[in-house]
Amino acid sequence: MKPTFYSELTSTSLQGELLSDASCEEILSASEVELLLLLDAAYQVRKTYFQNRVQLHILNNAQNGNCPEDCHYCVQAKTATTDIDTYALKPESEILAEAERAYQTGAYRYCIVMSGRGPNPKRVTQLAQLIQTVKARYPIEVCLSVGLIDEPAARTLKEAGLDRLNHNLNTSEAHYPKICSTHTYQDRMDTLHAAQAVGLACCSGVIVGMGEENGDLIRVAKELRRLEVASIPVNFFLPIDGTQLSEFVTETQWDGPTTLTPDYCLRVLCLYRFLNPQAEIRVAAGREHHLRGMEVMALYPANSMFLEGYLNATGKEASRTLQMIQDAGFIVETNGEISEHLQAPQVEQGSVLLKELEVLRPRMESNR
Ligand code: SF4
Repeated sequence: MKPTFYSELTSTSLQGELLSDASCEEILSASEVELLLLLDAAYQVRKTYFQNRVQLHILNNAQNGNCPEDCHYCVQAKTATTDIDTYALKPESEILAEAERAYQTGAYRYCIVMSGRGPNPKRVTQLAQLIQTVKARYPIEVCLSVGLIDEPAARTLKEAGLDRLNHNLNTSEAHYPKICSTHTYQDRMDTLHAAQAVGLACCSGVIVGMGEENGDLIRVAKELRRLEVASIPVNFFLPIDGTQLSEFVTETQWDGPTTLTPDYCLRVLCLYRFLNPQAEIRVAAGREHHLRGMEVMALYPANSMFLEGYLNATGKEASRTLQMIQDAGFIVETNGEISEHLQAPQVEQGSVLLKELEVLRPRMESNR
């Protein structure tokens, strides 16, 4: 690959121009495209808009399970057999206590997530009151993920002070029928349009590794660019037993999701950065599972991540994530005075252990 390939990716992105589909394909799968050079090119774009800052998000799974929808990747779907703890919407006191803890932990944004197809008008009013209370008590951004909503609901939430609505596209329009049958890609687009019609900022992302082609991921990235979404979570499919997609993988020996490699995941993050230079790119669910030892490299294209795990899957301890960010020379962006507190290393170093003789001379040991 010509050395100018990488600098052209950076300059095309910074000039606000669209990469061709052929370049996007090369980013994702051309072996001549070297990962480190690609990450550096993406980092030049990230640095221009976000410097070396990292925003941390904490999720509150406010209502878990019993969902009438059948999203094939989701443990909360009506079709999933995963043994999860289900509960109705948590009481306000519990959600407020968790908002306070998220603020104290240093989260930039508190994401309240509810299972279900979408809220009824009574629930929208209840959520609006909750958002008002959180915003009045804590200087933290609030994002809400509540399924499908229409314009009046979006307006009520916006007027209550909601900063962002999350509603992921998840995959391309062509691939959508293969991952869900109870609602459509267009339903999801309608929700994003309703939010945008009332001036509500949108967070919308993708799940990588659900049997899609490179072209599907490219189309979603370009669609999110067209929608000018503020934030893009890039999730990597977690094959949890009991979800329709995981069962399908096991039964058919389909190797789709399991072929996600750290190299490929990082390429996807770079692609999303080049195509959406000014959007917050979040390395989301599956970060630890799929990136493994390469996890820290995600910070070069991405400028945000979740702290303390995901909806039902656990993640790395907060202290280790903070240490990783700090060790790589990045700075956690918080809301106000607690940023100082986050500068201190949170992880104990642990003492260095000396090898025992049987480790130093295993052959001698076995010959005794
Ligand atoms: S992703 Fe949301 S709508 Fe789909 S099954 Fe899970 S909780 Fe329900």
